[in-house]
Amino acid sequence: MAETAGTTGTTGTGGTGTGAVTNWARTVTYAAREFHRPRTPEELAALVAGNTRVRILGSGHSFNRIADPGPDGILVSTAGLPQTIDVDTTARTVRVSGGVRYAELARTVHAHGLALSNMASLPHISVAGSVATGTHGSGVTNGPLASAVREVEMVTATGTTGTTGRDDARFDGVVTSLGALGVVTALTLDLEPAYEVEQRVYTELPLDGLDFEAVAAAGYSVSLFTDWRRPGFRQVWVKRRTDRPAVDFPWAAPATEPQHPVPGMPAANCTEQLGVPGPWHERLPHFRAEFTPSSGEEIQSEYLLPRSAALDALHAVDGIRETVAGVLQTCEVRTIAADAQWLSPAHGRDSVALHFTWVRDEAAVLPVVRRLEEALEPFDPRPHWGKVFQTPSAVLRDRYARFADFRDLVRVLDPSGTFANAFVRDLLDR
Ligand SMILES: Cc1cc2nc3c(=O)[nH]c(=O)nc-3n(C[C@H](O)[C@H](O)[C@H](O)COP(=O)(O)OP(=O)(O)OC[C@H]3O[C@@H](n4cnc5c(N)ncnc54)[C@H](O)[C@@H]3O)c2cc1C
Repeated sequence: MAETAGTTGTTGTGGTGTGAVTNWARTVTYAAREFHRPRTPEELAALVAGNTRVRILGSGHSFNRIADPGPDGILVSTAGLPQTIDVDTTARTVRVSGGVRYAELARTVHAHGLALSNMASLPHISVAGSVATGTHGSGVTNGPLASAVREVEMVTATGTTGTTGRDDARFDGVVTSLGALGVVTALTLDLEPAYEVEQRVYTELPLDGLDFEAVAAAGYSVSLFTDWRRPGFRQVWVKRRTDRPAVDFPWAAPATEPQHPVPGMPAANCTEQLGVPGPWHERLPHFRAEFTPSSGEEIQSEYLLPRSAALDALHAVDGIRETVAGVLQTCEVRTIAADAQWLSPAHGRDSVALHFTWVRDEAAVLPVVRRLEEALEPFDPRPHWGKVFQTPSAVLRDRYARFADFRDLVRVLDPSGTFANAFVRDLLDR
């Protein structure tokens, strides 16, 4: 029986197993020689010291083989380790174990009267796994989740534990590092005073005449959804902070009942809408922590492009609308402020992200992904590291100005390639 990442299965909550483990979406079965769920930092350190090929698993929400150690390696889950969440109300920071999920982190932080500046569409994902892949929410002034990280604690292949902060020249290579440098055991994040958010969904926004910049800036976090069955957007989700001036949304009509971004899915799975104010962590994600996010039967892809190219890129996708719509459940368009992490898909440029939730049929989806990548090629797209893409590694390397620095950092921190897998080796050409 296959075990889904992050839940109990063949190995229970601790120990070792050889049974099949899958990602959350059940689209990837990890080819690991062994699966481990250590319960103490000492067990974790012994596993790293005693094995030549190791990959760390967070909550398993990635859609590709980024976490897969391959048949000669071991997969080590952080889910069984002690989960620390230490809030410092004076410094307005939180030190959190890498395997903690955002849902639990957010509840604890909020109970101290504090908040994160942003969240992804779901709170089910682990902190270390999310920032490792450049996971983001939306908002023209909001960077990826990694931009809140001020310190990283990591166990490297030599067994040494070290802490790196923003004053370290290598820091911008360390947070969004694809699990290639070591085990992130804890992170310290910036917080701010707790705030409230009200969420409204607007329906039927045309693509023709779209003022993308104005729409994207009409809230603290804005997402546009389309199924590409016709031009334009079925829904626009606008999340407004109640402590900031309200901005009008004259371009589409407000929905009169709650919506789900995937057609046919129950709106009860989604966070509260219709403008009811509530705590930041119960509005910024689209999906409630206690329900299945998205559709659950899916493959995902996403590309970050310069925000200035948003309209041209949307028209390029519109040009292959029928091809895309044939295997699509929903497409989400978000914005992300530039960040400094060397491997962040938003590195150095304010970005627009075009996300695609496909049907769970790889054979049907992959040709469409290739067609989509051709259509987006003129806009220098950087794929989300945790989702399905077909762009060759040689092309990707050229899309990151600091790629060589990252490769050097991997050589220094993991000279024998303990944390490398096929995904990382191919990317680094190692
Ligand atoms: C329904 C759904 C909705 C999503 N919504 C969004 C969204 O809104 N925005 C977005 O950007 N992405 C989104 N994603 C993608 C998701 O955020 C990423 O795949 C993210 O990496 C998930 O974190 P994880 O802990 O599950 O990572 P995993 O898949 O477990 O691991 C990802 C990478 O992180 C590494 N890693 C994990 N933990 C550690 C650690 N402690 N130390 C070192 N390396 C580690 C792994 O080795 C691997 O390389 C969504 C995914 C799903 C399934």
